[in-house]
Amino acid sequence: MRNSSVFKLSQSQSQYQGRSFSSLDVQSRLKNVGFIGLGNMGSRMATNLLKSGFRVSVHDMNGVAAKQFVDRGVLVKETPMEIAEASDVVITMLPSSTHVMDVYMGPNGLLHSSSALQPWLFIDSSTIDPLTSRKISLSVSGCALKEKLDCQEKPFMLDAPVSGGILAAEAGSLTFMVGGSEEAYLAAESLFLSMGRDSIYCGGAGNGSVAKICNNLAMAISMIGVSEALAVGQSLGVTASTLSRIFNCSTARCWSSDTYNPVPGVMDGVPSSRDYQGGFASKLMAKDLDIAAASANEAAIKHPLTCQAQDIFHKLCNEGNEAKDFSCVFRHYYGGKDEQFH
Ligand code: NAD
Repeated sequence: MRNSSVFKLSQSQSQYQGRSFSSLDVQSRLKNVGFIGLGNMGSRMATNLLKSGFRVSVHDMNGVAAKQFVDRGVLVKETPMEIAEASDVVITMLPSSTHVMDVYMGPNGLLHSSSALQPWLFIDSSTIDPLTSRKISLSVSGCALKEKLDCQEKPFMLDAPVSGGILAAEAGSLTFMVGGSEEAYLAAESLFLSMGRDSIYCGGAGNGSVAKICNNLAMAISMIGVSEALAVGQSLGVTASTLSRIFNCSTARCWSSDTYNPVPGVMDGVPSSRDYQGGFASKLMAKDLDIAAASANEAAIKHPLTCQAQDIFHKLCNEGNEAKDFSCVFRHYYGGKDEQFH
């Protein structure tokens, strides 16, 4: 069942408080959706928006990625600026902070249009560092647009990264973690629920990015922990299948042991069972750990495990495993052995 919930983790955005939208108002404000970044995730998310009946126009700097949408009769725009001029809402799904900055602030970027027609809402679902999310949010609310729009009509910005990989993007079962104005979050819920199963409100600008980085930090460390324990156990004579069965009904149980086991031959249907193909690339995990380490440094919080995890994933990438699923840490860092397939 699709649902949503409101968790306030920290600062609420007072600057927008008091502005709310009636449901009729909201529907008319969500008609035209622009989507930028049609890669592994974005192409599937945009497809789900189309299936839900939104009028979608798209842009990607890679012509091949855009072509699949041209072939389906979808309006493809040449620049982010053209997307802005055609949309009520713009969603971006890009690799990293620099790409997002470029799409928003670059020449022909989203915020550079001189047209009076502007989106009222920008949603960035990329995994990027919270500082960049906050910077863009400030630019959106304070950019040149304000000369064209009165104060009441300043656009909103939501950072809304997702949990769930390509399969969840395809199935429309992503989880969105959303930072920014709560009113805008509530108004945009039908968009989130067209692409995902859950959306969780996290508080003010940048808090969605904070939540995403913390989730992936915990996931990286738990994957490393399970891999290390299984490799040690194997080398001391207990099979990974036996150890995993024990973990999964004991205190070591976690997602990395019971749902996404890193040992080839222990579970079917996970990346470890197909030579670590598909899944969540080690290079994306290394990127997320870089953001987590920089954010922890910024906050002056001890983060020894973040640093270790960061080193391990960069080493994996430097040794040629950057495209393999991050659970390959078991085989390629610890030298763990495959189990015989059952
Ligand atoms: P991807 O590399 O497959 O797709 C990114 C797309 O953005 C590409 O088509 C690229 O051409 C386009 N692009 C890059 N710069 C652009 C620009 N300046 N203008 C227009 N288009 C541009 O990446 P992905 O796997 O879809 O991931 C996107 C984001 O989602 C990343 O931040 C990633 O960390 C996050 N994420 C990915 C997964 C996953 O499993 N792949 C899961 C959760 C979150």
